[in-house]
Amino acid sequence: MAFSHSVFKKIEAIVGKANCSEKREDRFCYAYDTTSEAFYPDAVVFPKDARDVSAVLQLANKHGFAVTPRGAGSGMTGGSLPVKGGVALAMARLNRIIHIDRDNLIAVAEPGVITGDLHRAALKQGLFYPPDPASSDFCTLGGNAAECAGGPKAVKYGVTRDYVMGLEVVLPTGEIIQTGVETAKGVVGYDLTRLMVGSEGTLGVITRLTLRLLPKPEVVKTATAVFDHMETAAETVSEIIRQGLVPRAIEYMDNASIRCAEAYIHAGLPVDAEAILILEVDGSLGETAHSMERIETVCRASGAREFTLAATESETAGLWKARKAVSPALFAYGPDKINEDIVVPRSKIPDIVKKIKELSRETGLTMVSFGHAGDGNIHFNIMLDKKNQDQLSKAHTAVDQLFDYTLSLGGTISGEHGVGTSKAAYMTKEISPEAIALMRRIKFAFDPAGILNPGKMQV
Ligand SMILES: Cc1cc2nc3c(=O)[nH]c(=O)nc-3n(C[C@H](O)[C@H](O)[C@H](O)COP(=O)(O)OP(=O)(O)OC[C@H]3O[C@@H](n4cnc5c(N)ncnc54)[C@H](O)[C@@H]3O)c2cc1C
Repeated sequence: MAFSHSVFKKIEAIVGKANCSEKREDRFCYAYDTTSEAFYPDAVVFPKDARDVSAVLQLANKHGFAVTPRGAGSGMTGGSLPVKGGVALAMARLNRIIHIDRDNLIAVAEPGVITGDLHRAALKQGLFYPPDPASSDFCTLGGNAAECAGGPKAVKYGVTRDYVMGLEVVLPTGEIIQTGVETAKGVVGYDLTRLMVGSEGTLGVITRLTLRLLPKPEVVKTATAVFDHMETAAETVSEIIRQGLVPRAIEYMDNASIRCAEAYIHAGLPVDAEAILILEVDGSLGETAHSMERIETVCRASGAREFTLAATESETAGLWKARKAVSPALFAYGPDKINEDIVVPRSKIPDIVKKIKELSRETGLTMVSFGHAGDGNIHFNIMLDKKNQDQLSKAHTAVDQLFDYTLSLGGTISGEHGVGTSKAAYMTKEISPEAIALMRRIKFAFDPAGILNPGKMQV
């Protein structure tokens, strides 16, 4: 794909000198996400609105260079890596919460808004935006929509797609369209909103989002259950779901993740435990007390050695801080780790936990698992030294086996991190050739020149 200094000058004329750069040090900052791979863009561009985005995309079609949308670069699968160079389209300047409409329970916001900022703005008005990826202090709404981000509260409240009512999108060919509605219902035409959500920046650039809000729950209660065996913790999760209980979060941490998080932030976690569950319920005072009692009964009957209710808001915040520290803590301990994001039906969590233990024994590699167990979503990390060829090849074989086993249980190879570059090679394990061919036809209909986020998802 062709990018040149003269093309850069044209971009500069669109967005202004202060909002684009060809400098190596600036390009370096936008070459990464969390996969530890790096691809330099030829330029970094900060559009201010949909019109700027449209003008850049029209130039890209004319001159044949790639454009890769970028939120905070916290993606786990290479989605925002400019693998074919061209422009890294950094959405940070589109960072306004345009309004929060209490009467209609919606928020209208730009894609560069940090997710946690929307949480706080909604709470101030007595409202609640449930999607809450563990990265919410730094990831963006645009990145969340493009990846269909999940997070701990998905057990009860679902994922980002359940809250995106409508979008303003700039198509790869430069047209600006509106999708969806601002009403509680709407069925006119194809559901382009759902098609855009989870499309990983390959079908259009999101420049505005209309999001559904809920009333803030009256009470939230959080507890930890401590287990001496991983399998017992896993069986407890399945049992809680089987009993028809709907906590808003059931998070799982195995011993290695407990120790890593503890070493990283000293939260007082039980480092001798084989696993802990963090359980959270919300609703009215009566409902939450009743649900938590029933959850405690299930945990104790299933073999929890301790069950502790967080007594204060700061204890609750400490627990979530520890849970959110697992991923960065593991990264600090083993930057070469391979990180997967499988999901299995919730009744099969014990099977997948056993399989992970088996794979670790067979390969001799440390395997760490944690995640949104209430959704059957386990983040499975293989710790290794990538320079060690033996470890690398064993790790890849283990991933292959784990994916095959996950699919045999009726699961999926990614619950929320997407495909990007790092899972593209595995996509055919889950998606049929016919469905992939249809996805390619859809991509071609949106982006005939193939300029928007090329090299991702096998499209
Ligand atoms: C510590 C940590 C914890 C995490 N926890 C979770 C978790 O609990 N749940 C979860 O789901 N994820 C989690 N993630 C992954 C990541 O934060 C999410 O995928 C997040 O949605 C990415 O947002 P971002 O703004 O960083 O997007 P980026 O990484 O910049 O981009 C992600 C994708 O979105 C596209 N994109 C970005 N903005 C736009 C736009 N405006 N229009 C079109 N496409 C766009 C990019 O091209 C790319 O394909 C975690 C990551 C980290 C580092």
